[in-house]
Amino acid sequence: MNIVFLGPPGVGKGTQAKRIAQEYNLDHIATGDILRSAVNKDTALGRKVKEIMSRGDLVPDEVVFSLVKERLAKASCQKGFLLDGFPRNISQAVALGDYLKEKKKKIDHVVYFEVTEEEIIRRLSARRICSSCQANYNLITQPPKEEGICNFCGGKLILRRDDYPEIIRERLRVYQKETTPLVEYYQAEGLLKKINGNGKIEEIYQGLKEIFSEKNYVRN
Ligand code: AMP
Repeated sequence: MNIVFLGPPGVGKGTQAKRIAQEYNLDHIATGDILRSAVNKDTALGRKVKEIMSRGDLVPDEVVFSLVKERLAKASCQKGFLLDGFPRNISQAVALGDYLKEKKKKIDHVVYFEVTEEEIIRRLSARRICSSCQANYNLITQPPKEEGICNFCGGKLILRRDDYPEIIRERLRVYQKETTPLVEYYQAEGLLKKINGNGKIEEIYQGLKEIFSEKNYVRN
């Protein structure tokens, strides 16, 4: 099964994607995580994209798509994948569609997480990330056991640079302009499923499992 998660920053896609990927044995491809890890490791790619990401802008399509293609070609992806944060504009969606067609693969579901803008701002300002292993926390919905410390590796929890309020506003602007046209795009392809992202983590998870257990789902 091949899935795309679509929705604004802070909607909870990443949290759900990790669980769903585990449940259905899918390779979780989170382009934001891949890019952040390149920035943290100070690789050539990281140096190239650091500035763009800290402004809240999109990294150039060809850079992101080459990372995605590299992952999709891996053996771990052949059983199925979950794209989280990609595509983010129409040209990425077209490039992905062409690539999958060439490989005789397809997307089975595109899930669109709907949420109000106030809720996004509330969640993003409460989000923390481990500076070492990148695990995600939310001070309201998913706090760490010990304040400021990662449950998994003991790393320090920080506010992502692009979760500062002025950058959140820019990311939402970019999302509206670049990413929302994908809702219509995938609706026209008959792939779009909507889920209410305002609910509790567990409720959303159950809703997702219902979508993926639809009787008409055909394994590729
Ligand atoms: P995310 O963790 O998905 O919110 O992504 C964080 C940042 O990484 C975004 O604000 C962009 O700068 C960059 N990024 C992630 N995915 C993409 C993508 N598909 N296309 C362009 N830039 C991306």
